[in-house]
Amino acid sequence: MTDLTLHPNRDYSVLRRHPWIFSGAVARVDGAPAPGDPVRVLASDGAVLGVGAYSPTSQIRVRMWAFGAGAAVDAAFVDGRVARAVGARAVLLAEDATNAFRLVNAEADGLPGLIADRYGEWIVCQFTAAGTERWKAEIVAALQRYSPCRGVYERSDVDVREHEGLLPVTGVLAGEPPPERIEIVENGCRYLVDVREGHKTGFYLDQRDNRQLVKRYSNGCDVLNAFSYTGGFGIAAVAAGAASVTHVDLSAPSLELAKTNTGLNTCHVEESRFIQGNVFEVLRKFRDEGRSFDLVVLDPPKFAESKNSLMKAARGYKDINLLGIKLLRPGGVLATFSCSGLMTPELFHKVVADAAVDAGRDMQVVTRLQQAEDHPEGLCFPEGLYLKGLLCRAW
Ligand code: SAH
Repeated sequence: MTDLTLHPNRDYSVLRRHPWIFSGAVARVDGAPAPGDPVRVLASDGAVLGVGAYSPTSQIRVRMWAFGAGAAVDAAFVDGRVARAVGARAVLLAEDATNAFRLVNAEADGLPGLIADRYGEWIVCQFTAAGTERWKAEIVAALQRYSPCRGVYERSDVDVREHEGLLPVTGVLAGEPPPERIEIVENGCRYLVDVREGHKTGFYLDQRDNRQLVKRYSNGCDVLNAFSYTGGFGIAAVAAGAASVTHVDLSAPSLELAKTNTGLNTCHVEESRFIQGNVFEVLRKFRDEGRSFDLVVLDPPKFAESKNSLMKAARGYKDINLLGIKLLRPGGVLATFSCSGLMTPELFHKVVADAAVDAGRDMQVVTRLQQAEDHPEGLCFPEGLYLKGLLCRAW
């Protein structure tokens, strides 16, 4: 195995089990490892720190797979990592009311650059780093072994692959191709998932627990489901007895699927409305018309793509929360989220508080929210906590 030596004083984060080594920390590479090849990582004094996957074109030059001396990364190791990740979900996979889960969550599962989501009888994967790309065949075989399925489909059509010198790719990796839409059940709600064209691998599985929580506050409510995608929160609310739901999204195909998904669930809802438009504009219009809701869900896309755009993103989050809060009836509940990894829970809290101040409303935090438990965060990898939210009540 090739040795890669770090500059003096650059071993600290690796000793702290942080999995990313940036190019600036690398002093020397002995040999010419191919993209994704395992490299043995050494401190400047020659101490062995572990083994990582080499990525010659990425700023993140190495992603650590195993820490400490004596680690070997080979096919058996990769197989073991997949087994470990799937095994850790045994409690979830045994559930009857849900059949869509994340099986592998990248760094947190010791497989940096691999996402594997299970939708009913299919597994959908995303390979975002050279290291997991290198072991694709072994990973796919291991997924089939430990989580038997009808087929494995790849959705590696993501820009980040560029940094790794990889082209976007989609298609069947094993078994049968998935149907146009896979029907899943999540805590008793049914949703059709388009794993070929849908966002991420098809569905926002990370919001599962939060959709479930929102049900508790939905009975009899008029619900605004802003950034609805294929219906997610709104359909959960309807299943829990909401009086009405208004879905708002920019994407016509997403709303079309939201409509179909509504029909799939036996609804006690008087009205489901589907509004295609920009949430910022639609909510402003609602405000001007004096509309109000008992429950407002704000689940926008990632506003902050880089550190440079963080302040602009914070303004976006504040604007949207201000509009959302203004639409709440007294005692109403706001479920508000940010999936920007760069937005810390503290900053997000401040942004929502600033919005409440501007709206002139007293508000309380009922509970703090985050990504579901099948999307764990590495304890030494805070970047792994990307989804955060607040369930607030406004007086
Ligand atoms: N809450 C959803 C996921 C939301 S993803 C669920 O539980 O499944 C974010 C959604 O916001 C996407 O569907 C995207 O089309 C939509 N979107 C992005 N920007 C928007 C905007 N300015 N106005 C309305 N919708 C927007």
